[in-house]
Amino acid sequence: MQDKTEISVIIPLYNEEDNIERLIQILLPVLNQLNRSWEIIFIDDGSKDRSFELVKEIHEQNPDVTGIALSRNFGHQIALLAGLHRAKGDVVIMMDADLQHPPEVIPRLLEASSRGYDIVNTRRIDAKGTGWFKKVSSRGFYRLMNFLSDIPITESSSDFRLMSKKALGAFLKFQERDRFTRGLISWMGFNQTIIDYECPPRLIGTSKYTLRKMLHFALDGITSFSAKPLRIASYSGMIVFFIGLLYALFAIIQYFRGANMPGWTSLLVTVLIIGGIQLLAIGIIGEYLARIFHESKARPIYFIKDQTP
Ligand code: UDP
Ligand code: MG
Repeated sequence: MQDKTEISVIIPLYNEEDNIERLIQILLPVLNQLNRSWEIIFIDDGSKDRSFELVKEIHEQNPDVTGIALSRNFGHQIALLAGLHRAKGDVVIMMDADLQHPPEVIPRLLEASSRGYDIVNTRRIDAKGTGWFKKVSSRGFYRLMNFLSDIPITESSSDFRLMSKKALGAFLKFQERDRFTRGLISWMGFNQTIIDYECPPRLIGTSKYTLRKMLHFALDGITSFSAKPLRIASYSGMIVFFIGLLYALFAIIQYFRGANMPGWTSLLVTVLIIGGIQLLAIGIIGEYLARIFHESKARPIYFIKDQTP
């Protein structure tokens, strides 16, 4: 091993035993061609398959490839953080294990970094074969995100990016638990640029983002960057209150005119609408409260249970 590592590549793994070997086969030649020292750090995010055993085997053949295993599944974003904590390189590159972040793009990332960019983001151009659900949900998510939050998030951006040591140092200062890396990066500033690449469909294994994980991810993204939902709740409360006031006035006038109406429909509609808005508003407040609760416990963000020697 060299004394100084120039490039750190960090790759989170969650049940990726079928992808690791192929990834290494493609990634190693790309890195070796650069004529710079590098390290690969795999972060096993509580896989239930042989992912980490494979990492250990690869480490035996090639000590520049190392790995840590988290004590359970903490999620992609936290696995990334664990990898970033370990990265020693002058630049660090984070990418997925499923070859949807093609290693061939790495030289372009480095080229942009040598032009002085501290953060080089990527944006995928969807290749044929990406499921329509993923496409639609991802587009909808970014639309909603940009409408609701106070910082711009590029559509189709992914967690495939390069950061300089300076940017990494800044990134590691974030203390939050619910992490939405894309948003944090956008919030950070520094010299950033975006590179486009074509994204092949996942060839092996299925996306580890279940609908539940995606929803959770979206909620994290929105609630950690914006208080707009709270404001929307207050506004709808105000509007309903105003309409209610008018209606009450109308009801009182009707009373004094002695014109009593049957009124069942209007009563039901009012109760339903107001009840619905109240539940929605409480739900929104609850989301933020949960976030505060979660952060305030200040628990360790992850544990490491095993690592390569
Ligand atoms: N991943 C992880 N923990 C998880 C889910 C995913 O470490 O809980 C890893 C996964 O192994 C992959 C990367 O994060 O390397 C992105 O996951 P995936 O390809 O399933 O997401 P998608 O490309 O569908 O957004
Ligand atoms: Mg993927």
